Amino acid sequence: MSRVYNFSAGPAVLPEEVLQEAADEMFDYKGTGMSVMEMSHRSKAYEAIINEAEADLRELMNIPDNYKVLFLQGGASQQFAMIPMNLMKNKVADYIVTGQWAKKAYQEACLYGKANKIASSEDKTFSYIPDCSDLPISEDADYVYICENNTIYGTKFKTLPNTKGKTLVADVSSCFLSEPVDVTKYGVIYGGVQKNIGPAGVVIVIIREDLITEDVLPGTPTMLKYKIHADNGSMYNTPPAYGIYICGKVFKWIKKMGGLEVMKERNEKKAKVLYDYLDTSKLFKGTVRKEDRSLMNVPFVTGDEELDAKFVKEATAAGFVNLKGHRTVGGMRASIYNAMPIEGVEKLVEFMKEFEKQNLK
Ligand SMILES: *Cc1c(COP(=O)(O)O)cnc(C)c1O
Repeated sequence: MSRVYNFSAGPAVLPEEVLQEAADEMFDYKGTGMSVMEMSHRSKAYEAIINEAEADLRELMNIPDNYKVLFLQGGASQQFAMIPMNLMKNKVADYIVTGQWAKKAYQEACLYGKANKIASSEDKTFSYIPDCSDLPISEDADYVYICENNTIYGTKFKTLPNTKGKTLVADVSSCFLSEPVDVTKYGVIYGGVQKNIGPAGVVIVIIREDLITEDVLPGTPTMLKYKIHADNGSMYNTPPAYGIYICGKVFKWIKKMGGLEVMKERNEKKAKVLYDYLDTSKLFKGTVRKEDRSLMNVPFVTGDEELDAKFVKEATAAGFVNLKGHRTVGGMRASIYNAMPIEGVEKLVEFMKEFEKQNLK
């Protein structure tokens, strides 16, 4: 078996223990004589899987009882529509645009009502988080929307915006379970799981109960109503059953590791190894304002496209894969999610140092 250090932004690295367990259970899940992808989602065995997954997630994130946890499909992108369709009672919402994903969510919301871009960092290629302490929040805004960790640009909200009492909705796809969160500060927390939790296709929505109503925009399809999924325990139709099973295993892995406080410490330690080097390197430099740096996605450049390409090529050959930056930013990006071991980052930095020695003019 030969595993690489996978710095992909998503789908991304998963804990090897989880992959091994899934492999062991592939032919016969706990004496059922079948794999989890072959069983009825209404079976006793599957009921236990989804119920335990929810209970473990609730424990990890300390989710209060007045929040529902929904396991849905369509990825994070489907939420760009579901959120306005379900929450825009006044047909007004405020968006803070800090990257491509927030921009896409904003553009989608424009289809359903009056979406206001109340702050943006597009003027400097989304390399920072704008000051959100006193924004012009709309009086009748149904919610304020953020993308908490910007996967492509490598920025993260270190303090949540002052929403002046309005409901906060956050896309946490790329920082899900990377550190403790105070769920009560949000109306909706959601994320596609393929960045930090599991296989693509599953999206987890944590939503305060009072936001789940029948009062949705006219024409909202049944499948896009939070209420139908909440009322049916994410089993209105066949859920993404195998994906949820893997998510459940990752929750157990995080619990075993010590929970979100420990994840945070690990992630800070890992990110520091890379950022400290970027701050001293004469060849590589980070592209993001220091105080807004993400713990999960670390973009960097040499300033020379050809040299960037050479680095990516040589890194790949050395077993450090998926380091090419997003097509809109160029350069490199190392995504160092929960499942990336610290050795992966340490070895990458060693490799970068050697590359610097050989290529610094
Ligand atoms: C990857 C990503 C998305 C899109 O996820 P899909 O599951 O492909 O729809 C949305 N938001 C953020 C922050 C992401 O990182």
